[in-house]
Amino acid sequence: MFFTTFSSSQAKDQKPPFLLDPVCTEIKAQENSFQAGSIKDDDRIVLMFKCNFQEISGARCYWDITFANDMSEMNGFSIEFKCPDPAPVAMFTIYFHSGNGWYSKSFYPSTDENWEKIYFSKDEFGTEGKPSGWDKIDTMRISAWLAEKKDTSFFIANVAAGNRGSEKIAVIINDSEVKKRDSERDSIFKYSKTVTSTLDALGIGYRLLSDMTLTPEKLKDTKLAIIPFSPNLDVKAAEVLAGFLKKGGNLMIFYVIPPGLENACGIKFDKFKSQPSPGYFSEIRPVQRNLIPGIPERTRQASWNVDEMLLSGTAKPAAYWHDSKGASTGIPALIVSENTIYMSHVLLTDDFSNKKIFLLSLLGKFLPELFKTSAEFAVSGIAKDTDEGVSEFNKADTLIKEGKYLAAIASADKSSKKMTETFCRNQSSKENERRLFWCHSAFGVEGKTWDEAVKILADNGFTDIIPNMLSAGTAYYKSDVLPVAPEISKSGDQIEECLAACRKYGIKCHVWKVNWNTLGKAPADFMKKMKSENRLQVNFNGKGNTHWLCPSSPENRKLEVESMLEIVKKYDVDGIHFDYIRFPDNEYCFCSRCRQEFEKAIGEKVPDWPKDAKSEKYSVRWNDFRRNLITTVVEETSRKAKEIRSSIQVSAAVFGNWQADRDQVGQDWNLWCEKGYVDFVCPMDYTDSNLKFKNLVSKQKIWAGKTPFYPGIGISTWTDHDNILRLIKQINISRNYHTGGFTVFEFSPECADYILPLSGKGITRPGN
Ligand SMILES: [Zn+2]
Repeated sequence: MFFTTFSSSQAKDQKPPFLLDPVCTEIKAQENSFQAGSIKDDDRIVLMFKCNFQEISGARCYWDITFANDMSEMNGFSIEFKCPDPAPVAMFTIYFHSGNGWYSKSFYPSTDENWEKIYFSKDEFGTEGKPSGWDKIDTMRISAWLAEKKDTSFFIANVAAGNRGSEKIAVIINDSEVKKRDSERDSIFKYSKTVTSTLDALGIGYRLLSDMTLTPEKLKDTKLAIIPFSPNLDVKAAEVLAGFLKKGGNLMIFYVIPPGLENACGIKFDKFKSQPSPGYFSEIRPVQRNLIPGIPERTRQASWNVDEMLLSGTAKPAAYWHDSKGASTGIPALIVSENTIYMSHVLLTDDFSNKKIFLLSLLGKFLPELFKTSAEFAVSGIAKDTDEGVSEFNKADTLIKEGKYLAAIASADKSSKKMTETFCRNQSSKENERRLFWCHSAFGVEGKTWDEAVKILADNGFTDIIPNMLSAGTAYYKSDVLPVAPEISKSGDQIEECLAACRKYGIKCHVWKVNWNTLGKAPADFMKKMKSENRLQVNFNGKGNTHWLCPSSPENRKLEVESMLEIVKKYDVDGIHFDYIRFPDNEYCFCSRCRQEFEKAIGEKVPDWPKDAKSEKYSVRWNDFRRNLITTVVEETSRKAKEIRSSIQVSAAVFGNWQADRDQVGQDWNLWCEKGYVDFVCPMDYTDSNLKFKNLVSKQKIWAGKTPFYPGIGISTWTDHDNILRLIKQINISRNYHTGGFTVFEFSPECADYILPLSGKGITRPGN
């Protein structure tokens, strides 16, 4: 979640510039949050924020801090943070205001005992509204989101600029496009982050620069500019970069080349090429390895489309795309010219350990000294606390001295893999533990049959699978209630296939429904019907939501209940599993039928709709009304499912902070547990903070009462989604609270091929 990248060339004794003076800073408490201020802590002044969660009526306490800073030249910044009791807080968010919008990033501390220095990388920030650049920051906002109506406090000190990374490498972010259009925002952030996190993993420093403020002066000491993904680079920035190339600078650019740069690099857009079928772009293989020294013979990357280019001057293909059978497509994956390396798609994270070396070789084409930098970084990571570690370190260190940098990196990688495996083997399994896995795709794990995938679960000590087989307007089995997905005519009934594998390997199967939400997958005629019958949700501002069915419609509730009952009737499954069994947020639903039904429920007319619903006079009854609509469906489904088959297990994926979420999204799972509508719940405790995970589980233990609850561990949602060590830690936290089991999200190819085999060696070892 946080970056801890520091360039190896960075001066260790350098004092960071502090961005905030705790004495003179003006802090404005927003809404009815408690006033914050500076206090003395030991020998320094720090800022204290009191969260008066018992008093506020909104979802958060928040403060605006006057903060006039130009942050455009920083990679990021750090704060010192302390919160002795973060349990009442769902999460913290830090915002920077610029122009007509905000940059924002949420975080959670990893300790409740000490001060902690937390680093934030600018490329991890999302945007809200239309911020006008990091150079024009005028306000910093801190929000603490309510999880529990209990007061708490936190402290902030030393807000400091992150030290500059290497001057040699500049990563250019297409901020101008983010500001202009929302549609490309996520892709720009995502693919820029892929490049920077790969640089981090290689131990290579860089600076982040915005295309909105790029000048020749800022590139003065730069040797290589990297453009990770720039669908529409600012015209002036393209001019600056063209000038930079003419003066001897080098460029590494992915996918889209701005027209203003085509001449300078000798590579020009020709045509867009989509994959004719999946697996067409599977692998990158170099033409001759000496064109890009050190490039792997094969690097896997499952791209779905590429750009084809026209070449002039010295530009020539350096690698081609090969398909999944190994045949060359004849389409260049890499093109090199004297000043540019171009890749015809964005960089993806698949085949990551190879991908690192792939990127390093591209960098090394222009900056060969980076092989050594990266080798030293890799070798410094070898733990020397055992004799074996010392010997591994010495071996790799010798390779560096001999100038065999790639061999040194390979040796360090091998050593770290071996140590991880030893650690995993040393973990203890536990008897009679319920171990569940969510599987997001109705077709199972990509590249595997249901039989193969379910066998992996069983072989590695898992007991249950929760496959997603239906959403509000789509079924991946032969349904008489919901529209059937067209793929089923070819691929067959997916519940049947999955269930057959489960029976073969002794795994329990709970069919997962995405309730209310059509996920944009329902057929057009179904959506048209929903719309014409006013069955879709409407938000506070009167805007319709095209994906969510409204729970106040009796027809919609009937559809939810009957679609789940159909599964119990037709298939011998072990359970049915609710998900999205809630409203999207507290802005829904304010349709005219919701108004009518609400007025009927409270026996009075609401004069000022929708404002009144959120007012002091009505909000308690309004929240009750919303909760009730959702609970009714859970109750009815559960009761009728057990009438059909008494052994059926009813379960639900739920939000983590019941106390806040019952008002925010109308999800009253504490009541469902109390009344026995559910046989178990799986709170989605997706966080890479073990402290947050622990705080959630400790509260949920109380809320679930006698009903079993299996905390959801969100390994696929973590930035480092191969972090088996954190998975083990969170399993152990669940065990400390005697939950009796846990649920993992989600059954990805990486989990099947890497995580499960490692977990099966220790922490979930079958038969102990
Ligand atoms: Zn409604």
